[in-house]
Amino acid sequence: MLEKIKDNLYLLPKQGKMQVDGYVIAHSKLIPALYNDESLKQLQNAASIPGVYRAVYGMPDLHEGFGLPIGGVMATVLPEGVISAGAVGMDINCGVRLLTTPFAARELSRERLRKLVSAIERYVPAGVGKKNREKEVRKLLPQVLVHGVRALLEEGYGIEEDLAKIEEGGVMPGADLKALSETALSRGAEGLGTLGGGNHFIELQEVVEIREKQLAERYGLYPGQLCVMVHTGSRGLGHQVCTEYTEILYRAGPKYRVNVPAKGLAAVPFSSPEGKQYYQAMVAVANFAYANRQLITYYLRLVFKEQLGDGKLDLVYDLAHNIAKIEVHDERTVLVHRKGATRALPAGHRANLPAFKETGHPVLIPGSMGTKSYVLRATPQITLTFNSLNHGAGRSMSRKASIKNITVSDLKQALGEILLNEKPEAVLDEAPQAYKDIDLVIETVTGAGLAEVVAILKPLAVIKG
Ligand code: 5GP
Ligand code: MN
Ligand code: MN
Repeated sequence: MLEKIKDNLYLLPKQGKMQVDGYVIAHSKLIPALYNDESLKQLQNAASIPGVYRAVYGMPDLHEGFGLPIGGVMATVLPEGVISAGAVGMDINCGVRLLTTPFAARELSRERLRKLVSAIERYVPAGVGKKNREKEVRKLLPQVLVHGVRALLEEGYGIEEDLAKIEEGGVMPGADLKALSETALSRGAEGLGTLGGGNHFIELQEVVEIREKQLAERYGLYPGQLCVMVHTGSRGLGHQVCTEYTEILYRAGPKYRVNVPAKGLAAVPFSSPEGKQYYQAMVAVANFAYANRQLITYYLRLVFKEQLGDGKLDLVYDLAHNIAKIEVHDERTVLVHRKGATRALPAGHRANLPAFKETGHPVLIPGSMGTKSYVLRATPQITLTFNSLNHGAGRSMSRKASIKNITVSDLKQALGEILLNEKPEAVLDEAPQAYKDIDLVIETVTGAGLAEVVAILKPLAVIKG
């Protein structure tokens, strides 16, 4: 089905109802796995959506998802093109934040590291369905949905400098609380400032390699530095909104002659009342998720102050990897749906935050609890994929298959010295073996000329939700 164009680039040719071609950015060794799940079929489905523009793209971490595959990028021409809740994903604005600390990794004994992990567990509610404990935090929900991280700064949960390093400045315009159901709002109130379960994590990492010295320095990264990576999103709120709007859009679609090949791709024209409403809801949830990572940062700063006497954690960057954004490509206004894909703006791109206009921003790519994570920067060739890169290693095994095939000793072996807050048997589905080879995934995007490696980090301790 895939035709090789050149190393790391494959064509999924237009056929059947596809309106545009598909492209998959993948190393030849990553190709066979794509035939073991529905991801290519889902990419073909996405290429048949009304108003789809230019081509759909699969990143090297591509795997099956709900509607659009994870690692999928689909753009639609505005205003007539459609918006799809499933193509954004369940965890709206799931994303990654990287923080530097004033410490060198080697300064921390194992004992100190252990204490740090316990303190983080005390401060940050983690785990599936875990609620926050603080009434003050819950009260912030309405402001957070509209003003994002800005609302938290006013309450002392961050500093002005944080905003300079968060994608969109930590708030997207256009949120409307009326677009959210009562259930969604109540799940939002419970979830604010919590990590969640599964793939979400807080990880203490060490910068083990710098590939681009000057750039790394501009990003605030130095060899041997202790860093903290946070991966979480919009918790139950995003899940609720995606589920409700998929129903709404699925039922409304035929009214606009939008027929979709799968319910997960339920969509309506962006300009329709239902389309506008989903967008207003999505923006509110995205603001919530930026704020969620900010609140967790606030807790982490308290932990570092308490445990190590210095809570100066500085942001490297904070980005979304499940979201739809209005952008200009080829001088057209399009809605780019990125699901398990990262927007990556190169040097000089005007949508960069002022702090990164000259250099392009850091692209944060987590690997797994037992492998490297990467900081990349996009090259000017990134226009090929609507300025998009992968968002991680991507799963190579479903959760079910992981639990069946990976043993506790496999996981222990993969972790080596890395501290884990959970019992290994509880997180077999998150074992490094459940994910693709991150080094190969990164080799793909660098080999395709889309990105360069700035820095490499390795986990010292992992807090899984
Ligand atoms: P997702 O957003 O699809 O849930 O996950 C993003 C990526 O995070 C995964 O594809 C995987 O590569 C990475 N990942 C999952 N768990 C961990 C972890 O515990 N630590 C690190 N560093 N990366 C992880
Ligand atoms: Mn994620
Ligand atoms: Mn998520």
